Amino acid sequence: MGLKIWIDGKLVDEADAKISVFDHGLLYGDGVFEGIRVYNGKIFELEAHIDRLYKSAKAIRLAVPMSRDKLIGSVKETVQANNVVGGYVRLVVTRGAGTLGLNPFVCENSTVFIIADNIQLYPEEFYENGMKVISATTVRNHPLALPPQVKSLNYLNNILAKIEALDGNVAEAIMYNHEGYVAEATGDNVFIVKDGVIYTPPVEAGALSGITRAVVIRLAGQENLQVVERNLTKFDLYVCDEFFLTGTAAEVIGVVEIDGRVVGEGKPGPITRLLRKEFYSYAHGKEK
Ligand code: PMP
Repeated sequence: MGLKIWIDGKLVDEADAKISVFDHGLLYGDGVFEGIRVYNGKIFELEAHIDRLYKSAKAIRLAVPMSRDKLIGSVKETVQANNVVGGYVRLVVTRGAGTLGLNPFVCENSTVFIIADNIQLYPEEFYENGMKVISATTVRNHPLALPPQVKSLNYLNNILAKIEALDGNVAEAIMYNHEGYVAEATGDNVFIVKDGVIYTPPVEAGALSGITRAVVIRLAGQENLQVVERNLTKFDLYVCDEFFLTGTAAEVIGVVEIDGRVVGEGKPGPITRLLRKEFYSYAHGKEK
């Protein structure tokens, strides 16, 4: 049996969930989205995701055609209809069907759809032993081109960096901004630890304002760990004691090698492991 997909106000069978080939989300990547986790049947940080979706939409002058409450209700309805207990929700708002021209204002109705499904996670081995990354040569979008804080349907910039990672036989790439400072990974935020202090690039360095990033900063505070948001260079990554990424799918994952340089002791460090454990407890409402 296929999934039930929520599309423009109705739950329909997966096979019937269709959008127009004239949808500008497809023709131009003109739209916004969120990726949200479900843990034990509870939708993780839903309010924060909805806030971010509305901000992304506002930044590209896309009107979300529903109230916040209706949207929240629809996400919950989709999760329940698919009996998702542990999984992932994709919430998408596209500009809608228009003409072949660029003009977004000819698209009369934006399209909203919601998919609630299982999630493909990184292998457990990556969490145990840490993962390797490379520095991408693809520079993160300039904030005056497409602000990286907009979670838009146009991920080509990140996809090009992801291809570099895969060509280098690693799972993730670190992207730098036009000034050479660390921005983020292709689908995750970046953190390092040096001399007991946690550092992460400010969002203005070209990162998405990650929901997981915000939770991890809060959890670190509760553990009396110092978190400093400041610009980081490639050198900072090369000489740090610990390195980890955060994201909805990845949660908290240690990085043990970058561009052939071993990070710290070559395995996920103590602060990374502590934050991963705290994140698990927070997300699942219980210890692992
Ligand atoms: N940066 C990018 C480019 C992303 O796509 C994501 C989400 N996958 C993140 C960072 C992490 O954000 P979040 O914790 O909200 O998933």
